[in-house]
Amino acid sequence: MSTQPTTPLGHVWLVGGGPGDPGLITVAGLEAIRRADVVVHDRLSPPELLKEAPAGALLLDAGKSPDNQRMTQDQINAALIEHGQAGRHVVRLKGGDPYVFGRGGEEAIALAEAGVPCTIIPGITSAIGGLAAGGVPVTHRGIATSFTVVTGHEDPTKPEAQVRWDALSQASETLVILMGVERLEGIARAIIEGGRDASTPAALVQEATTPRQRTVTGTLETIASVARTEGITNPALFVVGDVVALQPFLDPARLAPLAGKRVLVTRSRSQASSLVSALRLEGAHPVELPAIEIQERIDDDALRDAVSLLDASEYRWIVFTSANAVEVFLDALMEQRDLRAFGDTRICAIGPATERALIARGLRPDLVPDQAIGEGVARVLVEHGGVEGGRVLLPRAEQARDVVPDALRAAGAEVDDLPLYLAAPPAEPPEEALALLREGGIDVVTFTSSSTVRNLVELLHGDLTPLRGATIACIGPATADTAWDAGLEVHVTAEVHTIDGLVSALRSHLQGSTAPGRDA
Ligand code: SAH
Repeated sequence: MSTQPTTPLGHVWLVGGGPGDPGLITVAGLEAIRRADVVVHDRLSPPELLKEAPAGALLLDAGKSPDNQRMTQDQINAALIEHGQAGRHVVRLKGGDPYVFGRGGEEAIALAEAGVPCTIIPGITSAIGGLAAGGVPVTHRGIATSFTVVTGHEDPTKPEAQVRWDALSQASETLVILMGVERLEGIARAIIEGGRDASTPAALVQEATTPRQRTVTGTLETIASVARTEGITNPALFVVGDVVALQPFLDPARLAPLAGKRVLVTRSRSQASSLVSALRLEGAHPVELPAIEIQERIDDDALRDAVSLLDASEYRWIVFTSANAVEVFLDALMEQRDLRAFGDTRICAIGPATERALIARGLRPDLVPDQAIGEGVARVLVEHGGVEGGRVLLPRAEQARDVVPDALRAAGAEVDDLPLYLAAPPAEPPEEALALLREGGIDVVTFTSSSTVRNLVELLHGDLTPLRGATIACIGPATADTAWDAGLEVHVTAEVHTIDGLVSALRSHLQGSTAPGRDA
């Protein structure tokens, strides 16, 4: 037995990232990324998934596009083997499924030969899932009992071509052609020559399951010219067969109000996730444009005074009007003291999100008004009693409205307003999302606070034109007022001022309106 220290054995996971939407990776695939030391990703693997890798993980772009070969297959195999042999956890992230035209088999064989353990985590292939997202089922009772997936990479007129179009054309009802956009004309002709009727329905689904998804339809005879007129580009799926006739009925945009809609999310990146996932679940494409960034603005003296008054049980109430206020105040408090400073001071949270933030920090609020707005807090607190003649601490944003302190003072309270942070526009403007907005590529704009409205207007340098064609949705009346004041027409104001309330109000609005999406 050797007593030499040995390098721990590495491992490579060949992970199918799904067709494009980062939510369509498997649970196992995501888990592998979250534990990876190295991620070798592809041009077609969903880029958002890279954010799931641990901080400090090495991200290698193997992105092969037809004209821009970043790493050759040999280099990719060599990199996987090298990192595997060095004892690392390596994820080889691919678009769709690793074994569907993904060269995953070659990589697995190379790893096996080098003695590096490897696990395949299958993915949703674009050939099936991408088509479904475009409204085309690969099989359908009474219409198609089989499908064939074939590469369109080869030139069908070359004698050495491996793809037997004559046989394939007849082999199954549905034909799905990947990598075929450049040779549509030739492939369509080969299928007709193989015996399929020129009037057979055909469709192209470009960039399936991404915010840029587009579906166009025609027949075997017309599809190449439709593609030219519509400017269809890679990556796209080419599908031929009678199932395509179902597309108008199964287009996801017709099946659910938010499906296929590009929805701008303007909250800060750290807060966006609940809205982003609620939207994704509805089939919408959230586009993050964080219009606010939380900048701490703590006056040390004011904070020290507030903490010692809190510690001395001088405050009857402490009122949190946002989850941000909870985070910033508790972080600051913990620098000097701990949760015992709260003693029996009563705690009020403006709404459920603030309540959750408090509970996550070990504090259960005594009071959460039904109406998550400033007016509601002030009214409920006054009704609750103990405000008159009492002292109230209000840790909050620098530019917050005066509704709460004014109402509490009017009710006879002494209010210590403690500004802690500023919801400022981001230091680096999110250019990509701004460009999409300017191109008219956004269907719905969501605002979850007045500062998101003000800051988005500022990011657009006051030019509201890009927002005109979109549905404007606000979380509550105060935010809506700010939007109207900024010159925007507000179409949706949530009655329940939470993320779920906002999404639900938006669904009802869109379900009710007959206007199909911009891309329908
Ligand atoms: N392993 C992948 C396929 C790789 S081959 C999978 O299982 O999906 C690359 C081809 O897949 C592209 O040329 C295109 O035809 C298709 N493709 C991949 N992702 C796509 C997407 N989101 N939308 C449309 N086509 C896609």
